[in-house]
Amino acid sequence: MNLCDKCRCPIPEPLVACMACALKASEAETKRQQIEPLQMIAAGKADFLTRTAHGVRHLKMFSVDLTFCGKGVEGHWRRGVLDYRIDTLDGICSKCRDLVELAMKEAAACPKQ
Ligand SMILES: [Zn+2]
Ligand SMILES: [Zn+2]
Repeated sequence: MNLCDKCRCPIPEPLVACMACALKASEAETKRQQIEPLQMIAAGKADFLTRTAHGVRHLKMFSVDLTFCGKGVEGHWRRGVLDYRIDTLDGICSKCRDLVELAMKEAAACPKQ
């Protein structure tokens, strides 16, 4: 049995890659893809994308069909934009709001891309 060279966990046959590390890598990549758009939003040069389902308005992540709170966005969800300069995040899903505020702080700490 192979061992993952990152976490040293056994990789069950017939898999060739460690799923936990593959997942972590794609999460890190998704997170990285949020930095530039969030910096643009903070600078007033871009808007948040919103998706509304079952009466809840979520913030959509950039480059992936996921909300910031981790829900998979479906095609029939109502699309919208939110201008961060004039709108507040008051009507937004509270989980998305908390996570995006955290992500914006992280993006602000990153060098401009
Ligand atoms: Zn691993
Ligand atoms: Zn949400």
